[in-house]
Amino acid sequence: MDIAEKMDKIVSLCKRRGFIFQSSEIYGGMNGCWDYGPVGSELKRNIKELWWRDIVRLHDNVVGMDASIIMHPRIWEASGHVANFQDMMVDCKKCKKRYRADHLDSDQCPECKGELTEPRPFNLMFKTQVGAMADAASVAYLRPETAQAIFAQYLTVLNCSRQKIPFGIAQIGKSFRNEITPRNFIFRSREFEQMELEFFVEPGTDETWNDYWIERRIKWYHYMGIKPERLKIRPHEKTELAHYAKSCVDIEYEFPFGWQELEGIANRSDFDLSQHQEYSGKKMAYKDINDNKEFVPWVIETSAGVDRILLTLLADAYEEESVDDDIRTVLRFAPHVAPIKVAVLPLFKKPQLQEIAKKLEEDLRGYVSTSYDEAGSIGKRYRRQDEVGTPFCVTVDYETLEDNAVTVRHRDSMQQERISLDRAVDYLVEQVNP
Ligand code: ATP
Repeated sequence: MDIAEKMDKIVSLCKRRGFIFQSSEIYGGMNGCWDYGPVGSELKRNIKELWWRDIVRLHDNVVGMDASIIMHPRIWEASGHVANFQDMMVDCKKCKKRYRADHLDSDQCPECKGELTEPRPFNLMFKTQVGAMADAASVAYLRPETAQAIFAQYLTVLNCSRQKIPFGIAQIGKSFRNEITPRNFIFRSREFEQMELEFFVEPGTDETWNDYWIERRIKWYHYMGIKPERLKIRPHEKTELAHYAKSCVDIEYEFPFGWQELEGIANRSDFDLSQHQEYSGKKMAYKDINDNKEFVPWVIETSAGVDRILLTLLADAYEEESVDDDIRTVLRFAPHVAPIKVAVLPLFKKPQLQEIAKKLEEDLRGYVSTSYDEAGSIGKRYRRQDEVGTPFCVTVDYETLEDNAVTVRHRDSMQQERISLDRAVDYLVEQVNP
C-alpha cells in the first residue's frame, strides 16, 4: 500500500464508520475544519481523559484549569504573538492560491505553474470584534494556544490550590490558527485542540524537570499503544530555537506522509512570566516562605495536539490482512484507548437471545463504552467492529440458553472463548483496563 493510498483509506474509513467528517459538508465543506462523529468523539475523549489522568490525577503537584478562549488582547502582545506569530507566505499571481513559502520546493505555483509573489509575513491569529463598537479598541483574538491563560493566572492558581513551586497547571482546549495550507487531513487544521502543561520551577532545577517531562511524555505515548519504533525525540537545532527557549525537543511520529511533530517540550526560561510582568505591571515573582527566596519561576512546557494524536492512533492501528480469501480491515487500538470496548451481538434476532444480550449490554454500560448490534450476518458484524477497533465482541447464541455462557471474540487473534454469563462483566472490564 503506498502512502497516498493508506491516507485515502483512513480518510474514507473515518467517514464511513463515524470517526471524522468534513465540517459543513452539505455546503461544500469548510477548509481546515473537521467534525468528529460518534466513534471519533469517543476516541478523542479517551485521549484527553488518559492525558489528564497521567498529568493531573497522577501528580499531586499538577492542577487543572479551563480558561476562556477570548482574552485581553494585551496577552498576545506580551506573548509575542501579535508581532511574531506569522508564517512567510507567497501568492500565485495567476490562480490566487496562497502557500507557505517553506512548504514549496520550486518558485512556481504547484497547481497552475503561475508566477509567485515575494514571501510576505502573514499573521496566523484569527481576529474578531468584541461588543457592539467596531473600532480598534474592540479587536480581540481567538487564542492560537492555550498556554497564555495559564501564565496570566499562574499566581492565582498557585495560591488557591495551596501549591508550592515546583508545580504545574494543565489545560485542554480549543486553539485556532489561520493556517495558510491546512493539510494531511486533521494533522494541520485551523481549529484544533491542545493539551498543554506549564510546569513552574526554581531556576537551576529546570534541566532536571525538563528531562523528567520528556521521559514521562514518551512513556505516555507507549502506554497509548503507539509502536515505539515509529516514535522519536528530535532535539531542536540551535538555529530552530526560539530566542527565549533554553532547549526544545519535538516528539515525532512516522506518519504515512513522513516524520512529523506530535508534541513540543520546551524549557522556556522565565520569558513568559517576565513578559506578562512587564506588560501587565503585576508582579509575577514567587516567594518561598520557608527560606524567603524570591524569584520569577522558569517554565517547562509540554504542548500536544489532540487531533494529531488521534490521527497517529488511527495511522498506527490501521491494518489490512487476508482472512479466508477476503481482506479484513482492522484498527488495532489498545483496549483502553478504543472508542467502543465491547460489542454485544445476539447471534439471531430471536427474543430469548435479544433479551439476554440487551441485559448484558446494559450491565456493561456503567463501566465501559458498548455497542449493541443485531443487524446482518455475524461475519459482517464482526467486520464492522474490527473497522472501529472494538477489542471484544460478545455473542449470545442458543447454547447460552443451556449453559448460561457467552462467546467472547478477541479482535486481534479472532480467537473465541466461552465465558460464563455471571463472570462476563467482571472479565470484560478487567480486560480493557491495563
Ligand atoms: P507546526 O510546526 O507543525 O506548525 P508548531 O511548532 O507551530 O507546529 P506548536 O505551536 O508547538 O506547534 O503547538 C503545539 C502542538 O499543537 C503541536 O505539536 C501540534 O500537535 C498541535 N498543533 C499546532 N498547530 C496545529 C494545527 N494547525 N493543527 C493541528 N494541531 C496543531
